[in-house]
Amino acid sequence: MSDLSGKNLLITGAGNGLGHAMALHLAGCGAQLVIADIDEPALAALSEKIQAISGNTPLSVVLDVSSEEQWQAAASTIAQQLGYLTGLVNNAGIMLHVPFQEMTLEQFRQTLQVNVEGVFLGCQNCLPLLELGAKEAGSSSIVNISSIFGHVAGLMHSAYAASKGAVNMFSKSLANELPRQGLNIRTNTVHPGVMSAGVSIAGTQAAIDRGVFSSAEEAGQVLMMGNPYGRPGQPEEIPGAIAFLLSDASLLMNGAEITLDGGHTAVY
Ligand code: ADP
Repeated sequence: MSDLSGKNLLITGAGNGLGHAMALHLAGCGAQLVIADIDEPALAALSEKIQAISGNTPLSVVLDVSSEEQWQAAASTIAQQLGYLTGLVNNAGIMLHVPFQEMTLEQFRQTLQVNVEGVFLGCQNCLPLLELGAKEAGSSSIVNISSIFGHVAGLMHSAYAASKGAVNMFSKSLANELPRQGLNIRTNTVHPGVMSAGVSIAGTQAAIDRGVFSSAEEAGQVLMMGNPYGRPGQPEEIPGAIAFLLSDASLLMNGAEITLDGGHTAVY
């Protein structure tokens, strides 16, 4: 496990799924957490679990990452309560499964607002806190959660794929721009592959109705085709890499991508 003692870390979308698994892992590594989500009951439940694991109370922030005002309020709360951040994990995201022909502009925009504008707003509003953290602790780390679908095409989630492609190049741009301005802030991306939850989503009735798959089982098989492990990832298999990127063991990593897909995208 990475040593994250002395780190103040903000995780967005911490209430459920990967964000929830990350929060538990990072708290176990000794970090002081700020957990943010739109799902207030999920945050309350997570806060209790973190206290039980670490004895440490996380700062809970109800936050819609696509809202500039809410980000400004969140940053000022964090400044008051913790003073600075040494890490930011932009994890909150949405994935709509809609065939391109049926996707509305509203759905496309909504995906980009949460998955791309949310990352932009997170980085920009937390930058002063991360700068302070870098002065305090030597360096700060931004981890943006992308996906293998920011590199390879999937089915029926073109808006999601477009959003993750944007996150990749946005992150590399910060990786170039921030250190050149003398800021000790690194920016990297993590790319989970097909996750256990994703298999069931892809096998929804919508996909089957449109003849893309004949059954949920077939959807799972098609998604796993070419994956050497032959199984989807579990949420608990992702946070170790994120902890590494947030720790001082990865100081030379900047503009890098860590793929966690069982070799799926390595196979032609
Ligand atoms: P995954 O399996 O990729 O983690 P989930 O849907 O399980 O996906 O988790 C995504 C998390 O992001 C949820 O807790 C959800 O409430 C949160 N979330 C979604 N949209 C927003 C948003 N606009 N602002 C903040 N959190 C969000």
